[in-house]
Amino acid sequence: MFKTEYAAKVYADLEKKNPGEKEFLQAAREITESLEGYIEKNPKLKEQKILERFLEPERFVQFKVVWVDDKGQFQVNRGYRVQYNSAIGPYKGGLRLHPSVNASIIKFLGLEQVLKNSLTTLPMGGGKGGSDFDPKGKSDNEVMRFCQSFMTELYRHIGPDTDVPAGDIGVGGREIGYLFGQYKRIRDEFTGVLTGKGLTYGGSLARTQATGYGLCYYAEEALKTLKNTSFAGKTVVISGSGNVAIYACEKATQLGAKVVALSDSNGYVVVKDGITKEILDVVKQIKEVERGRIKELASRVKGVEYYETTEKDRIWNTKCDIALPCATQNELLMKDAETLVKNGCIAVCEGANMPTELEAAKYLIANKIVFTPAKASNAGGVATSGLEMSQNSERLSWTFEEVDSKLHDIMVNIFNASYKEAKEAGNPFDLLTGANIAGFKKVADAMIAQGI
Ligand code: NDP
Repeated sequence: MFKTEYAAKVYADLEKKNPGEKEFLQAAREITESLEGYIEKNPKLKEQKILERFLEPERFVQFKVVWVDDKGQFQVNRGYRVQYNSAIGPYKGGLRLHPSVNASIIKFLGLEQVLKNSLTTLPMGGGKGGSDFDPKGKSDNEVMRFCQSFMTELYRHIGPDTDVPAGDIGVGGREIGYLFGQYKRIRDEFTGVLTGKGLTYGGSLARTQATGYGLCYYAEEALKTLKNTSFAGKTVVISGSGNVAIYACEKATQLGAKVVALSDSNGYVVVKDGITKEILDVVKQIKEVERGRIKELASRVKGVEYYETTEKDRIWNTKCDIALPCATQNELLMKDAETLVKNGCIAVCEGANMPTELEAAKYLIANKIVFTPAKASNAGGVATSGLEMSQNSERLSWTFEEVDSKLHDIMVNIFNASYKEAKEAGNPFDLLTGANIAGFKKVADAMIAQGI
């Protein structure tokens, strides 16, 4: 609930202007609630309507994407790009390809991205985009034709100093390659306009691993500071089995944890003895190479149990010390948070964007669970994208170790910044408020400096 009339009014106006945009309003409410105390102490922010300006995207583009499938049928999808805030650098943020994509989801992701990018301390504004195109079951050629059509509109809105998209759900190396190829063809220039590129054409080592590894670096720091413990010897449950989940599993295991579950949108696997490097290699083969289902792990590896996800049968019922939601928004509900706490879980660290319902997040914080909010703990992906941009403009490639060590330092710094603000705001466990304030401060200062 809002504590000030001012914040309640800002949010009520936003609700009126964006009716039915559930995810966007959820993110905006969370941000407004956690910033209101800070804004009360800084009257200039109110005078200059910085919060109102911050919540309004600078530009929102929606476009038609027509492509032809392998049967020669015409297909029509909808594309989006939100350019949310450019106060501290060119817009930067991923592209999501998933049938659920709509204006609300793109705007929530864009808004979160502004704070996340600010937290990295790199000069990047916030943006996001995508389409309701479903890459599942499509051939490589279909994905290529879709990407070419998508970029034929998007190219006019982006550029290495304007807006630099990257991957997200449904967009990995294959899609970035097709998008980059089409941009290069239309513009006739080879430039760092996208990140997450292949290593042979300007990609950065460690970008693939960055979000999952970064999540574990942040979580390790939070566990040490708030609970005087670490991943070593802990049982971990991870939702999702995509890019973030796979590399979170890899790093958590390297840090001495036992990861016992992974999932996809249909169900989850439980591996009681833990997912070893060998088992994770099979997961990578299924998900990254064959683009198959997590269910297949049970038929290929002994000792793996598979369960369909239902209202009641959920991955979060699996007993664990640490939960890493790494699939999608609102996948960890209040009832899941209660189950986790009841089962003795000490930490919920977000790899996906806004995976925890707001009510559930507040419940976890109130129960002194180490709760690390996505905009801080999954910022490693975009931070490494920022490092890819630096390497592109220097025309240099850094080693894996160099990038990984910079990523580690960035994640520790993001933790320290969000922890400092959380303490100042009165609750060291409230890293959500801490991250929102730390990210907002820098953007607000730049907005004030640049005038209206
Ligand atoms: P991927 O497409 O590689 O994987 C997504 C995973 O989540 C898949 O296992 C997918 O299962 C599952 N999933 C997707 N939608 C749902 C759903 N509605 N219900 C249950 N499971 C679902 O995406 P990423 O790993 O890249 O992204 C995962 C999350 O992390 C997203 O929230 C993304 O925004 C966030 N993120 C990603 C970054 C990155 O660098 N990749 C950076 C920062 C944040 P299925 O195959 O069945 O669809």
